[in-house]
Amino acid sequence: MAQIQFKTNRQKSVFHNPLEDMQLTSQELEIRTDPLTGRQSVLNSGLEGKIQILFPDTDYQYLEQRGQQTRETCFLCPADWHRNTPAYPEDFLPQGRLEHGQAALFPNLFPIGAYHSVIRLGDHHLRKLDDFPEQLLMDGFAVALDFVRRCHEYDPSMRYATLNANYLFPAGASLIHPHFQIINSPTPCTQHQLLLEKSEEYMKLHNTSFWEDLVQEEASLDQRWIGTINNAHWIAAFAPMGFNEIQVIWPGRKSFLQWTDQDVSGLARGLSYILGVWHEMKLSTFNFTCFSAPLDQDTPSFCCFMRMVNRQNVMPHHRTDDYFFQKLMHNELILNRPEELAARMKKGFPGS
Ligand SMILES: [Zn+2]
Repeated sequence: MAQIQFKTNRQKSVFHNPLEDMQLTSQELEIRTDPLTGRQSVLNSGLEGKIQILFPDTDYQYLEQRGQQTRETCFLCPADWHRNTPAYPEDFLPQGRLEHGQAALFPNLFPIGAYHSVIRLGDHHLRKLDDFPEQLLMDGFAVALDFVRRCHEYDPSMRYATLNANYLFPAGASLIHPHFQIINSPTPCTQHQLLLEKSEEYMKLHNTSFWEDLVQEEASLDQRWIGTINNAHWIAAFAPMGFNEIQVIWPGRKSFLQWTDQDVSGLARGLSYILGVWHEMKLSTFNFTCFSAPLDQDTPSFCCFMRMVNRQNVMPHHRTDDYFFQKLMHNELILNRPEELAARMKKGFPGS
């Protein structure tokens, strides 16, 4: 029996509104609490009228212009990109880098973890979100997992691995050229630790896995459920940490060391599809992080889990989408209702 609780607190805000001739108006707020972490997200249907100010559509002409301006100085563009990129010591990786199809992995010049790698994704400097083909993403994830395995074999203290991406500058990327980032570290990042701790607490309390219960509950509610590819389940987040958050849950894969080629191709197929729909929604940027249980530990309470979100679209003088509410209060605003987002993603989803 699932123990998941989707808590919503409803509040009203009443004021004389100059946009409606100073009539007394009332706005309904929905404060949603994440069923695992307790983090809050707020939905105010009144903000729908402000969405073009808070989250304007992508200016594709400007994006093209930024692409052209940065192509010349991009160190990943030239055919001899090997010459410009760092390499790992030979005793760890004899070739210094890992390559698979269109993807190539090498160290980050400015690491934020003991093993922090960048994965170059193909030759194209700039891609719109409808131009991330399955094969390209598959190559990227395959090389990432190969690295995680080799890194853990070489240094077993590297137990905490995440697969990540920042795409385009509003998402924090310093390079336009598409790339992923892998971090392997002896300690988990704050969010990774919180997810592991809360999952363990849940299991101690209910004697079941939060993640299996979540999948069961979301599938039966069918409000935020998108579909399943190769035993990975795709849903829209109830209380998202970012805009249009989509989550992927692999109940049968506790850590990255258990992933198969099928898991990699399923993730690539689903992600390529989600990016394509985001493009239809005139969105151009994203972040994602995929978490794993500690690599050398039997962790029945956790499983591989991924969040993907949009960031502010590319346009001149964009405003950041984080303000005190997100950065310091750790709450999030919901501009697209998750249930409507899931309905949109469900149409044409390449799974069951
Ligand atoms: Zn480039």
